[in-house]
Amino acid sequence: MSTGASIKAFEEAQQLIPGGVNSPVRAFKSVGGTPIFITEGEGAYLTDVDGNKYVDFVQSWGPLIFGHRDESIEAAVIEAVKHGLSFGAPTVAETELAKLVVSFFDSVDKVRFVSSGTEAVMSAIRLARGFTGKDDIVKFTGCYHGHSDSLLVEAGSGAVTFGNPSSPGVPADFTKHTLLATYNDIESVKKCFADSSDIACIIIEPIAGNMGLVPADKEFLAELRKICDANGALLIFDEVMSGFRGSLHGAESITGTSPDIITLGKVIGGGMPVGAFGARAEIMSQLSPDGPVYQAGTLSGNPVAMAAGYAALSKLQKNGQIMSVLNARALRLVEGMKAAATECGITMQIDTRGSMFGFFFNEKPVKNFADACNSDAELFAKFHSGMLDEGFYFACSLYETGFISTAVTDEMIENTIQASAKVFKAITNG
Ligand SMILES: *Cc1c(COP(=O)(O)O)cnc(C)c1O
Repeated sequence: MSTGASIKAFEEAQQLIPGGVNSPVRAFKSVGGTPIFITEGEGAYLTDVDGNKYVDFVQSWGPLIFGHRDESIEAAVIEAVKHGLSFGAPTVAETELAKLVVSFFDSVDKVRFVSSGTEAVMSAIRLARGFTGKDDIVKFTGCYHGHSDSLLVEAGSGAVTFGNPSSPGVPADFTKHTLLATYNDIESVKKCFADSSDIACIIIEPIAGNMGLVPADKEFLAELRKICDANGALLIFDEVMSGFRGSLHGAESITGTSPDIITLGKVIGGGMPVGAFGARAEIMSQLSPDGPVYQAGTLSGNPVAMAAGYAALSKLQKNGQIMSVLNARALRLVEGMKAAATECGITMQIDTRGSMFGFFFNEKPVKNFADACNSDAELFAKFHSGMLDEGFYFACSLYETGFISTAVTDEMIENTIQASAKVFKAITNG
């Protein structure tokens, strides 16, 4: 496989863009080698600047649940573009997407649209603080909630990949209000509440996808709900990744625990930049212009982005079976890879939720971030590069989740498993 054009493109990009990328997770730092520069996507495939083709299990880090260039999303975007790119005034498209989003989630009466997951979470935290009149927040080590100041503490994903659990440039005065707890460990949460009587909210990825895939235990989420209720704190489910991916109706539909606020992103924009946060009316009424909690955005609710999101979500709504079909493929993929690994004496931990899949090269089950960090990073790097050579594009960090799109066929899954067997054999033979 030749990657000369990608190498050249990366060199040029590095002259002008820090690290050659506009989001650090794209940089291939932890797996070595050069990021692949993409020219186009079509269905399940990506094509790079050297003309190599890959089956894509990254899906733009989640958004593209129908694969690249889905016909109905593309048509909706083109139609919207013809009417104007942005108005800075309300459009009916926003109400239509809001109606659709609200219909998916039991705990949401109203939503506000923003342009990224980071903005959605940042605004949800402000809303929780404004609603409760309290300042502290509890977050879990290894959960990522975007790159805003108070949330960039032990944040998993890109941050850990680069060895900066927290970032310079974030004043300690800001992060002192962020209390850290351990995922799936209720005692660590109780300790936060013992230490502070000023906790506005607990924020959690109910299906963590930014330390690899690590779903929260049902009982753990139920306990969080109880602790929040007992202490006048709100429970925020950050479903920017898991929303419309882990299940169609949110983590609450599969865990039985309802959040007070939910944050969304990725799939909700169908590939365009959209984020959202929603809650029951009582909470959302605190938001300006109804209430005093300020939040705004020049391009929020952008008509082209709304059209893409509407096309994606309405297609999901019309195809209720999608999630179980995608889950069967996700499960087959990780089970097949695990069997291939076992044959080579490699131990793999695997899990799936809906269209999300995760795997760790780890002797023990992974329940939290410390467990995830005990995985074999060197083996992952070899696996990643071997699979890339075979034409399979996996996320370039062991702390990421994989995604199945509807464009990925059963045959592609079988081919991926066969390729993994070949790669594991090559790794263990030398
Ligand atoms: C991706 C992600 C974010 C941040 O979203 P951006 O659109 O990248 O700003 C926040 N929370 C979770 C759980 C995410 O996976």
